[in-house]
Amino acid sequence: MTGAPASDSSGSGIESVMHEDRVFDPPASVSDSAHVPSLEAYRSLHERSLQDPEGFWSDVAMELSWFQPWSKVLEWDAPDAKWFVGATTNVSYNCLDRQVEAGYGDETAIIWEGEPLEPGSGPEVRSLSYRELMDETCKLANALKSLGVGKGDVVTIYMPMVPEAAVAMLACARIGAPHSVIFGGFSAQAIADRVHDASSKVIITADGGWRRGGIVPLKANVDEACQQADCVEHVVVLRRCENEVSWTDDRDHWWHDIVDSASPDCPAEPMGSEDLLFVLYTSGSTGKPKGILHTTGGYMVHAYLTSKMTFDLHPGRDQVMWCTADIGWVTGHSYVVYGVLPNRVPTLMYEGAPNWPDPSRFWQMVERHKVTQFYTAPTAIRAFMRWGDEHVTGHDLSSLQILGTVGEPINPEAWMWYHRVVGGERCPIVDTWWQTETGGHMITPLPGATPTKPGSCTLPFFGVDAAIVDEKGVEQPADTGGLLAIRKPWPSMLRGILGDRERFIETYWSDIKTEDGTIYYKAGDGARRDADGYFWVMGRIDDVLNVSGHRLGTAEVESALVSHADVVEAAVVGMPHEIKGEGIAAFITLGPGASPGQDLAGLLREHVAKEIGAIAKPDQIRFADALPKTRSGKIMRRLLRDVAAGKEKTEQDVTTLEDFAVLAKLRESEEA
Ligand code: ATP
Ligand code: MG
Repeated sequence: MTGAPASDSSGSGIESVMHEDRVFDPPASVSDSAHVPSLEAYRSLHERSLQDPEGFWSDVAMELSWFQPWSKVLEWDAPDAKWFVGATTNVSYNCLDRQVEAGYGDETAIIWEGEPLEPGSGPEVRSLSYRELMDETCKLANALKSLGVGKGDVVTIYMPMVPEAAVAMLACARIGAPHSVIFGGFSAQAIADRVHDASSKVIITADGGWRRGGIVPLKANVDEACQQADCVEHVVVLRRCENEVSWTDDRDHWWHDIVDSASPDCPAEPMGSEDLLFVLYTSGSTGKPKGILHTTGGYMVHAYLTSKMTFDLHPGRDQVMWCTADIGWVTGHSYVVYGVLPNRVPTLMYEGAPNWPDPSRFWQMVERHKVTQFYTAPTAIRAFMRWGDEHVTGHDLSSLQILGTVGEPINPEAWMWYHRVVGGERCPIVDTWWQTETGGHMITPLPGATPTKPGSCTLPFFGVDAAIVDEKGVEQPADTGGLLAIRKPWPSMLRGILGDRERFIETYWSDIKTEDGTIYYKAGDGARRDADGYFWVMGRIDDVLNVSGHRLGTAEVESALVSHADVVEAAVVGMPHEIKGEGIAAFITLGPGASPGQDLAGLLREHVAKEIGAIAKPDQIRFADALPKTRSGKIMRRLLRDVAAGKEKTEQDVTTLEDFAVLAKLRESEEA
């Protein structure tokens, strides 16, 4: 990043203040055998996908199995989309039966590593073939049926990261019961809210889950949730930690009692393409979580194609895909389970935490399982940077081919570290921009085709018509910030928010309308495109700073701070300021050896001025041990705004906040 002064503000656009010249071409070792081997190949296929979306998506869909073909590829009556109209299929069938019937039943579907309970203790490793995974799935599906679960009944899944969590998802999909997966780190209250919201009658859980050597009391949390959510009729409990649990006789069932004896024969239910596959709640970064609805056919096709193209998956090439996300997030849905299994590449699941029993856990796992595709989040990458390179470099990571990131803008500094230390400067990085709402990747490099720039998610995926526009839908010139919008429907787009049509319309389908009345999907992120057409996410629209009439995105100011050697993580938010209208408050965590205080604060202000201009100098700097994050690991700037404004209490939804102590500590922190 080099210094480029902020230009004069004009209109309501967000100003682009960051400049990045580094470009990394895809290595020949990847391009030579990639699905999409060059930028030209990407461009022509992307053009075709926009000009003839129905032809394009129907060709892709035909790579998968359907019980009944579609009569029409797309019916679009904004904001309502129907994809593969009239077709029937089953996602579980495409993940399992398809591989077994083609003779690959003995190949590995899932590799799983449990939490090592003590330093030095060997990890517990299991692997399941497609055949084994299918048998388990069928047994659970039959057990669910025997509890009265049928098509359309929402089943809640609140599980540790064990193979049975994937089995539970696949079993629900198999019988047409939409699932609602709740991350195992959530509290009883969050479970009760979600169970109630979906009128879910069945919960699948475990006695407990291992994390950092301790037991997360999953069953106890479910018991507590059930006191509030009286719609629950059955709770299925997997034995995992052998901890004591309390028992409600006519409601609770041990997994092994009802599953082990069930028949392994359960033909997949033909599901309408638009039948609900799952409901999943967003992270809650910008407000109360939304229950996003995804349906069968379109989601399946998009998850399959993005897995194949973005990670360049090829069956039979000894690849191992490791997406580190919990299945409680959309990333886990699409890139641990539903997108990977139809591609017939083994998917690695792990239980526990990245730094337990020590900070080299991930890299031991990469070495042990010869991981080829590795996909994680910026929050994890920044944590590894802080823990020290030695935990990474002490392991043989030569199996790695492609690295991915998702969840937040990745600061160029963290990108470079990932590239250098983890990727050995040889692995392309795919910075994938997408949302729970989009179901799969929307803007991302393709590893064999797209030259990458640190901090940019680069170019739109096939079939995705992404643009930077203003409220009238007018496309903005290069390097001018605006609203990130999607102008055409795509197969895995959300079909709604559970039980809240109004919020659905208001959140996504109201703010961007062209002169002729066309509505675009509003993602809620601010971004710009550079002269090469590359997308740069500048931050959430809600978080845009307005300093003396200049509108600045948060990501760029944060990246300038993170590019200082002492800074590991930074979050900036607006605060009331008498003269400027809005000032900038920066919350900063430091690397080992750096000392917080006035001196460093002064240096950081100068550093930001040098990197992007005096306009972006933080007015308030606070050093912290940690930043408030969602349970999916994203910085919650909306809470920091309250702290910066000196509010003692927040009236906001904090149900997805990871650690309340962090917030309390920040309130007490001194300004430097
Ligand atoms: P909520 O919608 O409840 O406020 P959330 O937006 O964090 O929470 P998710 O669906 O988990 O919920 O996250 C999607 C958002 O994450 C995107 O809108 C974007 O802001 C951010 N994001 C995801 N991937 C990237 C990326 N590669 N680069 C920049 N931002 C990203
Ligand atoms: Mg969101």
